[in-house]
Amino acid sequence: MPTNVVIVGAGVVGLTTALILSNHDNLDITLVAKHMPGDYDVEYASPWAGANFFPVGTPGSSLQKFEKATWGELDRICREVPEAGIHYQDTFIYGRKKDVGTATGEWFKELVREDAWFKDVVPGFRVLEKSELPEGCSTGTTFTSVCINTAIYLPYLLGQCVKNGVTVKRGILSHISDAPSQHSSGNASITINCTGLQASTLGGVEDQNVYPGRGQIVLVRNEPDVMVTVSGTDDSGDETTYVMQRAVGGGTILGGCLQHGNWESQPDPNLAQRIMQRSIDLCPSLVPRTGKVTELSVVRHGVGLRPMRKGGPRVETERIGGNTVVHNYGHAGYGYQSSFGSAWEVERLVLESLKEGEEVRSKL
Ligand code: FAD
Repeated sequence: MPTNVVIVGAGVVGLTTALILSNHDNLDITLVAKHMPGDYDVEYASPWAGANFFPVGTPGSSLQKFEKATWGELDRICREVPEAGIHYQDTFIYGRKKDVGTATGEWFKELVREDAWFKDVVPGFRVLEKSELPEGCSTGTTFTSVCINTAIYLPYLLGQCVKNGVTVKRGILSHISDAPSQHSSGNASITINCTGLQASTLGGVEDQNVYPGRGQIVLVRNEPDVMVTVSGTDDSGDETTYVMQRAVGGGTILGGCLQHGNWESQPDPNLAQRIMQRSIDLCPSLVPRTGKVTELSVVRHGVGLRPMRKGGPRVETERIGGNTVVHNYGHAGYGYQSSFGSAWEVERLVLESLKEGEEVRSKL
């Protein structure tokens, strides 16, 4: 008899977890979510992401392990599955001394290191010569990373889940204990909680360590053929600049900011102007004809709320009201780059829980 599993959440974390678990024939999976690929909503972080692989986990942390493990799979998809909407990008990372201790400086602390832990993980890692650095920057590295077109990749993940037999439906849960009854059979013994920022309000979870990290972006049609970022700006300690060209005609994401605790869903037009100006200053190949912001062709302005969590992502098992719940939420600004690593950890926890179940049954 298969074990019934309900996964709550259809962001990159829920979909990747469903995909990994769907490889097990002994699991019958239903995925339920309020938001699905194709939706754009401030409560749904995944479509707004760049999204790229810019590792930020501290060596030894579970986040770092998840990021390291995820690179291999993103690399494989990039090479073998062009329809998934991921491509390689030459990447330049710049660090400024004055950003140490700011919101964005803390976020990029590991990313800007010239002896970064991922130097032997990503291909082509090289420390830039001082003469190659933009004015005001004291460190710089280049390597090959990937950029994900979220508008293609999220539906791709969903399609793979459906192909593997996952039942997918819309639903809004007010309490995590309502999840088992959402299974196509009417009951489930394992719930996987991939609710992102909503883990802060979902009944039975209400994680007070979870809060929003507001990110504002501009999606443009211009294609610079490169990914660039810098650790901060002179405009504000919570603003930064990044340019990420998405795969297969997805345009380029210009960012951004990391505004801790800010729930504002509407784009700030002044910030948008600053983002566009800083992006063309850092990456002139965005506007080769005129060098001016007016050459940017805007697809949309947007705001996403990163599911921040004090202490890092929560990937662990908890018994709630007699049900087994495996949590997988709180991936802040790194949900894509840690997606497979954390999904494999959920897989391990689910298999562990099944084994315990068997031992209990065999003792009876
Ligand atoms: P979400 O995508 O928010 O999905 C949550 C899911 O849970 C949704 O389907 C929702 O409907 C469902 N849900 C929640 N509560 C309930 C409920 N009560 N009932 C039913 N369903 C519920 N990450 C990277 O790795 N690289 C990047 O370059 C990158 N860039 C980013 C740029 C920006 C501007 C932003 C905002 C984020 C960026 N991120 C990036 C971070 C990444 O987007 C997030 O970490 C990731 O999307 C989180 O995914 P998630 O599945 O946990 O949450």
